Parts: sequence; C-alpha cells; structure tokens
Amino acid sequence: MKPSAFDYVAPRTVADAVDALAAGAQVLAGGQSLLLDMHLQRAHPALVADINHVPGLDELTASDGTLTVGALVRHQTFESPGAVPGPLGDLFARAVVTIAHPPIRARGTMAGSLAWAHPASEWCALAVALDAVVELRSTRGTREIPAGEYFLGPFQTAREPDELLTAVRYPLLAPDTGVAFTEHRRTGFSFAQVAVGAALTVRDGVITEARIGLANCADRPLRAHAAERTLIGAEPSSPAFTMAGEAASTEDAAPVPEPYADVDYRRHVIAVLVARTLREAAPV
Ligand SMILES: Cc1cc2nc3c(=O)[nH]c(=O)nc-3n(C[C@H](O)[C@H](O)[C@H](O)COP(=O)(O)OP(=O)(O)OC[C@H]3O[C@@H](n4cnc5c(N)ncnc54)[C@H](O)[C@@H]3O)c2cc1C
Repeated sequence: MKPSAFDYVAPRTVADAVDALAAGAQVLAGGQSLLLDMHLQRAHPALVADINHVPGLDELTASDGTLTVGALVRHQTFESPGAVPGPLGDLFARAVVTIAHPPIRARGTMAGSLAWAHPASEWCALAVALDAVVELRSTRGTREIPAGEYFLGPFQTAREPDELLTAVRYPLLAPDTGVAFTEHRRTGFSFAQVAVGAALTVRDGVITEARIGLANCADRPLRAHAAERTLIGAEPSSPAFTMAGEAASTEDAAPVPEPYADVDYRRHVIAVLVARTLREAAPV
C-alpha cells in the first residue's frame, strides 16, 4: 500500500524542529517503524518533520559518569566495541545485535525506539532497568522524565505530541559490574517473545546491586524489582538466580497472551531466561 498524502519539512535546527511539531508534525528519525506504519495505513501524519538534517542530534558523549545519546544515534553505533565505556558498552553491544537485522540497525535510532515504545523493545527495557532519563524539548521549554515514569502502555508514553525527544541519558555502570542480555524469539528477525537484560555487582562475595530489565513481559517495559530484592545480599549462585527468575515471573511480570505464547508459557520462559541471564552476568 502507499501512504496517504503528507507534507514534508526538513528542519535544520532543534528550534525549527519543535516549531514543526507545534504545528502538528510527526517526527521522522530512522523511519524503520514510522514509514512501515504509513505504508500499512496505520499512521496518517499530515506533516512529517525529518530531523535527519539537524546538526548535533547524532552525538554520543560520556562525561561525569553519564552517557548522553542524541536523538539520531543509530542502533548500529552500539555494535562497535568501545562506543560506550565500561560494562554499559558491553551490555548495549550484547542487546543491539538482537534488534531486527543490519539494514534496520543502520537507520533506526535508540531514541526512536523510546519514542515508539513497543513493549518488546530491547532499548526500552534497558532504559527502565538502568534508570535512564529522557530529555524532551518543545516550544514550552525542556523537561526530563525518568524512564520508569515515561512508559505508560503499549506505544504510549508521557511524551506530548509536540515534544521532540532530544536525548537519552544513562548513568555509566561501575567497572566491576557484570552484564548479560538474552532473548527468546520465534524466528531470527521477529520481535522478542521475552527479552532480559541484567547488570550485577558482586562485592566481598555477595550481590550488592542488581538491575533486571524485562521486554515483552507486560504491556510496557519493566524493571524486575521483586526479583532484584531476592538477590541483594545473596551469594551469586544457581539457586539464588532460579529464585529471582521465579520472582520475576510471578511478581514482576504481567504477560499478555500472544498467538504463539499463552500466559503460562510466557511466565515459564521469563523464569528460565531471567535465571539464565543472571548466571551469565554474574562476575566470576
Ligand atoms: C522488520 C523489523 C524488525 C524490527 N525488529 C525490532 C526489534 O527486534 N526490536 C526493536 O526494538 N525494534 C525493532 N524494530 C523497530 C526498529 O528498531 C525501529 O528502528 C525503532 O523502533 C524506531 O526507530 P526509528 O529511528 O526508525 O524511528 P521512526 O520510525 O522514524 O519513528 C518511530 C516513531 O517514533 C517517533 N519518533 C522517532 N524519533 C523521535 C524523536 N526523536 N522525538 C519524538 N518522536 C520521535 C516517530 O514520530 C514515530 O512515531 C523492527 C523494525 C522492523 C521494520
């Protein structure tokens, strides 16, 4: 199918971009979700603002313990070893290769994923688990929202239609943090049925910090707080990780049935994947 007719603007500054949004435009970033929706007649924007020509939005910087990812940083950037310092870079490198396939990763953006807010999005689950902050700009000014408060449901966020998501900020992970990312999917290129990202810090033989992000385990990305609580103060061991998997599956997750995965099946996969991801993340 062809998209409905639309007008197109290509702003050259953030100020022009937010003016276009105030006039009702919808952002075009990597186009990997928006253009598909337009072709399938699921989206009918009257005006599209292509932000690909706005200088500075493609910047990726790390300073003072914070990683800042601009709105035009493509998925594939995170495949490069060392693009992001320390364990956070390792976690992103493990997660990014599970997103779609190389041509989509060459154009699609991390910020676009957070704007789109698919419940199975790997980036959205990591943003929640890692206490990322989303920066939004409009003609009214700039505001920041913690990722934990930003996702409201499937494809629903706290972003107002006239707000440009300009950057995502992450605290860098401590050097002694172990990380892992695993997912279960029906085919190589389908979205994850369940995806799990984990970051674990072990000091003096006990777990002192745990972060677990869950994708496609509810109507929105989740941080598995109940599972994390079972781990703090425990020795890193298979029984501890199995218990955390059970807590994630029964207390944190609220899976919805899908055509090839009913709720019981999804809870089983969540328990197994969380335990497996924690075993991989445990620093040895
Ligand atoms: C075959 C296929 C498989 C895929 N598999 C996966 C997968 O496994 N995991 C996954 O997470 N994703 C997957 N995707 C989606 C892909 O990751 C997209 O790139 C991403 O979701 C959207 O990023 P984008 O930059 O392409 O955004 P666009 O398509 O340009 O925009 C998506 C939406 O977000 C809005 N938007 C984008 N950027 C901004 C911004 N800066 N400020 C405000 N609004 C903005 C747009 O207006 C639009 O509504 C898949 C896509 C395809 C086609």
